[in-house]
Amino acid sequence: MNRLKIAIQKSGRLYDDSVRLLKDCGIDLKNGVNKLKAECDNFPMEIYFLRDDDIPQYVEDAVADVGIVGENVFYEKNKRAEIVEQLGFGKCRLSVAVGRGEHYEGVEYLNGKRIATTYPLLVQRFLDKNGVRAEIQEISGSVEIAPGIGLADAIVDLVSSGSTLFMNGLKEVETVLKSQAILIRNESLGVEQQQLLEKFLFRIRAVKKARNNKYVLLNAPNDKLKEIIALLPGMKSPTVLPLAEAGWSSVHSVLSESDFWEIIEKLTAAGAQGILVVPIEKMVI
Ligand code: ATP
Ligand code: ZN
Repeated sequence: MNRLKIAIQKSGRLYDDSVRLLKDCGIDLKNGVNKLKAECDNFPMEIYFLRDDDIPQYVEDAVADVGIVGENVFYEKNKRAEIVEQLGFGKCRLSVAVGRGEHYEGVEYLNGKRIATTYPLLVQRFLDKNGVRAEIQEISGSVEIAPGIGLADAIVDLVSSGSTLFMNGLKEVETVLKSQAILIRNESLGVEQQQLLEKFLFRIRAVKKARNNKYVLLNAPNDKLKEIIALLPGMKSPTVLPLAEAGWSSVHSVLSESDFWEIIEKLTAAGAQGILVVPIEKMVI
């Protein structure tokens, strides 16, 4: 039987979320994880565990049909593959950082400077876009120590909280790229692989929607029902059921994570009580 071959990071920052996404899509990995390859019983899929840097190449070469990789790596490697979907995890940014004591007023600062990075292609594009000429020092790791040891004047590296920069006496001054994990695919998949990918993608989208939404149940006095319902977007309209206590109803609806708190506050102000918020496992609309 045909299987969809997917490449994911074998260990590191994308590993847990990649495996969790597969699990949430109902795909159970069969083998132990310390292997190069795993199979699954309940979906025609084969999973390859690789270094994230190698994933774009493997997808270009059709060793894997699809892969999960950060946008940062995908754009830096510049391989022939197509982006299928943003996955909503592995969020970070590729930023320029300079010494904390430096007087930085804009990208012109970088003119004639030495910039250490593991992302030479993205940095060169950034410099070109901004009309800056600087020397790129490509190094393979520990970029943040380069200014401290006199190897460079600035760095371009991944940042999430900024604490690593801070510990190395650096400050973040520009964002080169905002990144998250994406699903990429080989450009010329066969018909069967494409069908499997569609099936997988349908599940991914249901999981993503569920993660971005909450199921909300609340009690509302009937005289406030109209006002409360107006606050709820819901998928169609909310479900309204009478409570045993006369004059009260139970209202069920779906709220998106992004405007959740604001709506909850308004619901309380409008007289809603006993608000329950429940995670959604899958959501298909
Ligand atoms: P490998 O051994 O596979 O080459 P690595 O050391 O290159 O691993 P990791 O540090 O595990 O890579 O990061 C993998 C990817 O996770 C990065 O390329 C980026 O897309 C994303 N990432 C990086 N930093 C963070 C962060 N702080 N939070 C979330 N995601 C991140
Ligand atoms: Zn890597």
